[in-house]
Amino acid sequence: MKVTVFGIGYVGLVQAAVLAEVGHDVMCIDVDEAKVENLKQGLIPIYEPGLTPLVKKNFEEGRLHFSTNPEEGVNHGVMQFIAVGTPPDEDGSADLKYVVAVAQTIARYMTSHKVVIDKSTVPVGTADRVRKVMAEALNERGVDLNFDVVSNPEFLKEGAAVADCMRPERIIVGTDNDDVVDLLRELYEPFNRNHDRMIMMDIRSAELTKYAANCMLATKISFMNEIANLAERLGADVEKVRQGIGSDSRIGYSFIYPGCGYGGSCFPKDVQALIRTAEHIGYVPRLLKAVEDVNDDQKMKLPEFIQRHFGDDLKGKTFALWGLSFKPNTDDMREASSRVLMDELWKRGAIVQAYDPEAMDEAQRIYGHRADLRLMGTKEAALQGADALVICTEWQSFKAPDFDTIKNALNEAVIFDGRNLYDPERLRKRGFTYYGIGRGASL
Ligand code: NAD
Repeated sequence: MKVTVFGIGYVGLVQAAVLAEVGHDVMCIDVDEAKVENLKQGLIPIYEPGLTPLVKKNFEEGRLHFSTNPEEGVNHGVMQFIAVGTPPDEDGSADLKYVVAVAQTIARYMTSHKVVIDKSTVPVGTADRVRKVMAEALNERGVDLNFDVVSNPEFLKEGAAVADCMRPERIIVGTDNDDVVDLLRELYEPFNRNHDRMIMMDIRSAELTKYAANCMLATKISFMNEIANLAERLGADVEKVRQGIGSDSRIGYSFIYPGCGYGGSCFPKDVQALIRTAEHIGYVPRLLKAVEDVNDDQKMKLPEFIQRHFGDDLKGKTFALWGLSFKPNTDDMREASSRVLMDELWKRGAIVQAYDPEAMDEAQRIYGHRADLRLMGTKEAALQGADALVICTEWQSFKAPDFDTIKNALNEAVIFDGRNLYDPERLRKRGFTYYGIGRGASL
């Protein structure tokens, strides 16, 4: 099938690549000329496991095309995916300007029926807005053409995006037209063979499903962080508590890790956007606000520990930082806890020596101008001459380091561990001062 994807970011590029991989003919359109040029040269703008060979192969085999020409994109596919960003605007609501711009573009150039499929995360009611915007644009052109608008939210996880799109746990389709259901079934058939993963619903429910999923996951994290804060004060170890409650099959072990706060391009903005949606209709979303508050405080946990240990003034101190991305297996630093930590350290006059397996280019792009950030080539180099080690991301390569190397390289054997990677008792025996999250039994 011929498919067009507007927006070649984490979602658009991965979705386009997997659709091409199963045989669809996919045209990717982006406004970012450099990105499109690079992709044509085989340079992939993001780090995502398995993505580079997939994109290269499908590009070379002629099933994946890149262009900045929107008209070419509109002409290409019956199915027109919108996968552009929906960042927060000033009050935290989802900013729909990119979505609206694509909708207008499609209406401006279409000459036949199109199915507009919204993959971006958008507030309930956006499909109606897209419909209205398109109808107006068609009206201006004086043409009468039919189109459908479908909500098909994306659930991929950064760091496992290719695998998630190749084997989705569910494919949510919100539509009010049965003919469109058939088209989408055909499109997704290759991903739906093992069992039926497609869940059909009305458009508004589909739009809300995406927010509900992300808010539920954020709630689990903030809940565990609240328990961690209690554990710290009560002399309990939240890691024991985590295992204790995870054993209850109604709770389960997944997504209940305490830490230095959630980040990324989705949870913070989606929790905020649903709060704003609720407020706009006069509902007070008490739980969601608490989820957000707990997370904001949690990002201050490591700076607080550092202050407790070293005092307020950090002039002349250097901190080794392991992990810049908001989670492992991605180079994405949007809303990452590391950024809050670095800002707090810099405010107090400290220097940061950072290492991340994949986010070094991104850090260079964001902070390259700063003299108080040194980007180091290895995790060992980041330790040299530092006063302490701080961990913000649970990359595999940080999980079993050589502790003698760490101790020898640091001026003081102290570790601030925002992801509870190590056993506090074992580290204490090796002569470290160790700060973990919610590990009251050992503090
Ligand atoms: P992104 O910022 O990585 O990519 C968006 C792309 O859209 C950029 O390349 C940008 O240049 C392009 N763009 C902007 N305006 C355009 C236009 N008019 N025409 C063509 N291209 C245009 O964003 P992302 O992380 O891929 O997220 C996209 C959407 O998917 C968001 O709504 C997000 O909430 C949602 N989502 C993201 C994830 C994730 O893990 N990143 C997961 C699920 C859903």
